[in-house]
Amino acid sequence: MERRINQLQDLLKSEGIPAFYVSNPYNIRYLSGFTGTSAKVLVSQEKAYIITDFRYREQAEKQCQGLEVVVAGGSASQDSPLAFIQRTLSQACYDKLAFEDEDVSVAAYMALDEALDVELIPFSGAIEVLRQFKDDEEIALIEKACDIAVETYDFMLNTVKAGMTEIELANAIDFHMRSLGASGVSFETIVASGLRSAMPHGVASHKVIEQGDLITVDYGCYYQGYCSDMTRTFALGDPGDKLKEIYAIVQEANRRVSEVARPGLTGQELDAVARDYIRQAGYGEAFGHSLGHSFGLEIHEAPNASPSYDEELQAGQLITNEPGIYLEGIGGVRIEDDLLLTKDGNRILTPASRELIIL
Ligand code: ZN
Ligand code: ZN
Repeated sequence: MERRINQLQDLLKSEGIPAFYVSNPYNIRYLSGFTGTSAKVLVSQEKAYIITDFRYREQAEKQCQGLEVVVAGGSASQDSPLAFIQRTLSQACYDKLAFEDEDVSVAAYMALDEALDVELIPFSGAIEVLRQFKDDEEIALIEKACDIAVETYDFMLNTVKAGMTEIELANAIDFHMRSLGASGVSFETIVASGLRSAMPHGVASHKVIEQGDLITVDYGCYYQGYCSDMTRTFALGDPGDKLKEIYAIVQEANRRVSEVARPGLTGQELDAVARDYIRQAGYGEAFGHSLGHSFGLEIHEAPNASPSYDEELQAGQLITNEPGIYLEGIGGVRIEDDLLLTKDGNRILTPASRELIIL
């Protein structure tokens, strides 16, 4: 964690910002390793503090290396968190404090403004930029979250039966991921069967899964704070020629993206690899979402692979590869993998079969 604090301090120095009040819980976890629910972080150019209440003192002391633990607020302390911050800023003669304007509510901003005698500087997005580049420790946790998703694909193929509802299958998937060490799901599991598979984000419903259904499952888990995100589409009995045709197109679009994804391509260019192929196959209109997004502590992070994202992708970033085709009244297909961009290409973290499996 100290390396992350140091990186942020370098940024504060280059921006001329004396201190930064961090309130976004994901950013707090990223900087400090703290997994509790009640804390704020204050990073100055020289020091870093985690401010929490007496319930979390011991946990913060164990988890947060490189930060001084400050207990403030609650009946055990005379100091409020903002009183501590004001005193610290005054002692250092700082007259400015950066804060995360995209995270702070109007009420919280008014409280900051009232309690602090400094200029408040909106400074959102800085830690999110650091978070785009995953270090070895983060990659190891994400790999584990992806392994759990891959293993769960086999489980679901062995578990799904005609007559089950989508919710029953989703529950079985969620429980299985927890049994493999996940702390929870990274988002509500999507199970979309039959005609519902034409809905890109059809959260599991009471619909009964029937013979002949094509089933799209988009799911992932949290492992020690980090996510995975994977989609597979499979069939229970023959889904018919039309759906087999679009499956083959989506599979090829996904394959082409994994083949070329590398640092130096923009998010736009990577998106176009799938989009151009699907358009040439005659289904451009039916691929109505972007190709991919990054993830980590949160399920959606920058960078993105979309028609409007013109920044270059870089080594150490993650990007999902999730082309899809959705035909209303017929059904839909999506295949999603998680890619880690490496120096000269990428590594697929979700190497489960992408062939059309007909059970
Ligand atoms: Zn997904
Ligand atoms: Zn995704």
